[in-house]
Amino acid sequence: MALARDASLLERLPKVRGRLTANAPLAPITWFRVGGPAEVMFRPADVDDLGQFLAAKPADVPVTVIGVGSNLLVRDGGVPGVVVRLGRGFVEITRDGERLRVGAGALDLNVALFARDAGIAGLEFLSGVPGTIGGALRMNAGAYGTEVRDVALGAEALDAGGVRRWLMPGELGLSYRHSAVPADWIFTAAVLRGSPGTPSEIQARIADIQAQREASQPIRTRTGGSTFANPTDQPAASGRKAWQLIDAAGCRGLRRGGAQVSEKHTNFLINVGDATAADIEGLGEEVRARVRERFGVELRWEIRRIGLDRPEGDGR
Ligand SMILES: Cc1cc2nc3c(=O)[nH]c(=O)nc-3n(C[C@H](O)[C@H](O)[C@H](O)COP(=O)(O)OP(=O)(O)OC[C@H]3O[C@@H](n4cnc5c(N)ncnc54)[C@H](O)[C@@H]3O)c2cc1C
Repeated sequence: MALARDASLLERLPKVRGRLTANAPLAPITWFRVGGPAEVMFRPADVDDLGQFLAAKPADVPVTVIGVGSNLLVRDGGVPGVVVRLGRGFVEITRDGERLRVGAGALDLNVALFARDAGIAGLEFLSGVPGTIGGALRMNAGAYGTEVRDVALGAEALDAGGVRRWLMPGELGLSYRHSAVPADWIFTAAVLRGSPGTPSEIQARIADIQAQREASQPIRTRTGGSTFANPTDQPAASGRKAWQLIDAAGCRGLRRGGAQVSEKHTNFLINVGDATAADIEGLGEEVRARVRERFGVELRWEIRRIGLDRPEGDGR
């Protein structure tokens, strides 16, 4: 199936206060820097704008929300329907004691820095995750021993019909890199909990996290972070992490087109310059096949893949 590139979808969509753009490039706003356009991109002005849009849009129009694309592979044929990107209307961070209310469009790093300045400890791990709070909720993002599940007191979301919902921690259903909240709900804010701390000590922990990341991850390359979830639930993995299985299956440095298995961290795929999404996804599938053959372990994609393949015969 190909993505129909005409502006007619725009005409079927409700009026909004934010911005609707037809045929909007997605590659420049994702970490991999690959993939086709959104049929329509919607940047809502605020929660009400988004809610009214969801309530009024035609039922057959699919909606996909993205953060800053740090865990995302957009396929080369682009994404049909509407891609929602939360912008300025969703980045506010406010404080109430040791609690922070944070917009889902806020960068995790900015939340960590705000918490530091406010003397709130326990949110430093967010400085190690290069996404937004919305992406962190959806993925139950975690780093250095803490994950969103440990600090979330609740979250606000819009359901598929645009109705505002408040979700208690149990209702978020957070487990390893997963949230059980319906896939078509859009997080709009979260309340996170920390504990009293000293800004200088918090800053030292943030600096430590940054240094560890710099040493162990290819963070200055075009990548999507960890490609596969660690297969801790599979006995055949014998407790080995995804990167260890990938390495032992001989995949370090493996290439396909412009995509490569990182030499620095074998669970990271990187775009070495001119990769297509098909190169990256194909390389990931090759890695999965090699690990399956060698160890009988079925690696599960952690990176979210969205959109359609480029139609056959459509040159680059
Ligand atoms: C160099 C590098 C290092 C990384 N290190 C870590 C790490 O240590 N720990 C870790 O957990 N992750 C890590 N990641 C992965 C990634 O940063 C996280 O998964 C992050 O939470 C994704 O956030 P995002 O805003 O970029 O979401 P995107 O990548 O844009 O989207 C990811 C998923 O979240 C959904 N989503 C985004 N926003 C919303 C919303 N508002 N409501 C509902 N769903 C939403 C999307 O639909 C998609 O399914 C790393 C990535 C990179 C590139």
